[in-house]
Amino acid sequence: MNTTNTYYIPKPSPHDPDDLGHFGIYGGRYVPETLMPVLEHLKADYEAVRFDPEFWGQVHYYYQHYVGRPSPLYYAENLSDELNARIYLKREDLNHTGAHKINHTVAQAILAKRLGKKKIIAETGAGQHGVATATVAALFGLECEIFMGAKDVARQELNVFRMKLLGAKVHAVESGSRTLKDAMNDAIRHWVTHARDTFYVIGTVAGPHPYPMMIRDIQSIIGWEARAQIQKAAGTLPDKVIACIGGGSNAIGIFNHFLEDEGVECIGIEAGGLGLDSKHGASLAKGAPGVLHGQMSYLLQDDDGQILEAHSISAGLDYPGIGPEHAYLKDERIVTYDHITDTEALDAFVWLSQREGIIPAFESSHAVAYLKKMPRQALQGKTILINLSGRGDKDMIQAKEMLDFE
Ligand SMILES: *Cc1c(COP(=O)(O)O)cnc(C)c1O
Repeated sequence: MNTTNTYYIPKPSPHDPDDLGHFGIYGGRYVPETLMPVLEHLKADYEAVRFDPEFWGQVHYYYQHYVGRPSPLYYAENLSDELNARIYLKREDLNHTGAHKINHTVAQAILAKRLGKKKIIAETGAGQHGVATATVAALFGLECEIFMGAKDVARQELNVFRMKLLGAKVHAVESGSRTLKDAMNDAIRHWVTHARDTFYVIGTVAGPHPYPMMIRDIQSIIGWEARAQIQKAAGTLPDKVIACIGGGSNAIGIFNHFLEDEGVECIGIEAGGLGLDSKHGASLAKGAPGVLHGQMSYLLQDDDGQILEAHSISAGLDYPGIGPEHAYLKDERIVTYDHITDTEALDAFVWLSQREGIIPAFESSHAVAYLKKMPRQALQGKTILINLSGRGDKDMIQAKEMLDFE
């Protein structure tokens, strides 16, 4: 029997949550009673396909022919020369729709189809997850409704237009701060009453169990590919694996296949926004444990426990919480976490553009910026793997307002 798969199928992870979705004290299911049976159902549905070669074979077909996987691993020659290290970039920016989010929307839509659902819904902040969800709805002939804070609808005109062009209906959510956390609340509320025919496509490793585990499994395609690619290209495992963190899906996706390796340090980079004195960024560094969107994790909150809005140059990192598995991996010191300011991220955005001819997303620029924050000494002769989660096309208008070239 052939024991090596030619395509990705998840394996049980050493850090799988317990039956109720707890990673240590984090995660779980903090939801209204009415949502419990819906989540229990989804958990059973996911467990039925979790290790099923036929399901993952179907996912693989679309990864290969539609998304463009495997994404390349690129040896960044100019950065490597400058830093006297070996820098490799995992090119998730080259995926269809420009980021890693298409990985989890394709797989969730295929699951929705299998379950006979007619409609998919999603929350979105900057609109990237909304676009990735609307894309797969068009592909698989599913109805699509997107929940987006009214403030974000106004700020992200182009992405709203993209979703509508793809055939989705966009709800502008007027409650609360009219941003991502309110959109997610409304999406959950809608789901409770429409679960019979509706699948909720969550955009990161957050929310109630089984979402953090399910989306971690799906995104682990990134690390599965990268591990084989870097062993082939560099002849060794990396010394460090670096990724940016909003909710944490691209980061856990690449880390998951390196967590057991003694010599590999995984480093997650949060958005520090304006800097350390700002309360509005870096949930793990400045937040405290609390409950949001059906899960226990680190959250940005004020002294009364009110959720603070996150602010960063990169809208995709503006989530006031973080996936529960990251909270656990931080407490257990299995992964290192740090943060990068807006200024440092913008500097790295220009640096990568001009040294390698690759314009990264603002989000991914945070991971690249860490190369400059690390002491030079720590880099000498080291093999570094960076997850380039997305491309910068979506950030051009904002970049043009902040940068001036002769
Ligand atoms: C959405 C997004 C992120 C942040 O989401 P994670 O779940 O933390 O990966 C990072 N990079 C890009 C390009 C994104 O679009």
